[in-house]
Amino acid sequence: MIVALGLIVAFVLLLLFSRPALRKCRWRETRGADESLWRCAYCGAETKGARGVPPAVCLRDTR
Ligand SMILES: [Zn+2]
Repeated sequence: MIVALGLIVAFVLLLLFSRPALRKCRWRETRGADESLWRCAYCGAETKGARGVPPAVCLRDTR
C-alpha cells in the first residue's frame, strides 16, 4: 500500500514538473505604442501582448 502511494505521488510530481505552463518565467516588459513586448529572462522567449499583463505560460517549447 505504501509503495502504491509513493508511485502515485511520484507520478503527480512528474506531471506537475513536466507541464510547461507551470515553469517559472520572469517576463520583462518593453512598452510599445499599443502593446508591449514581453521577454522571458528565464528562457529567452519573446512575445507581444497587452500592457501590464505578462504571458501566463512559458513559450520556450513553442518556438
Ligand atoms: Zn520562459
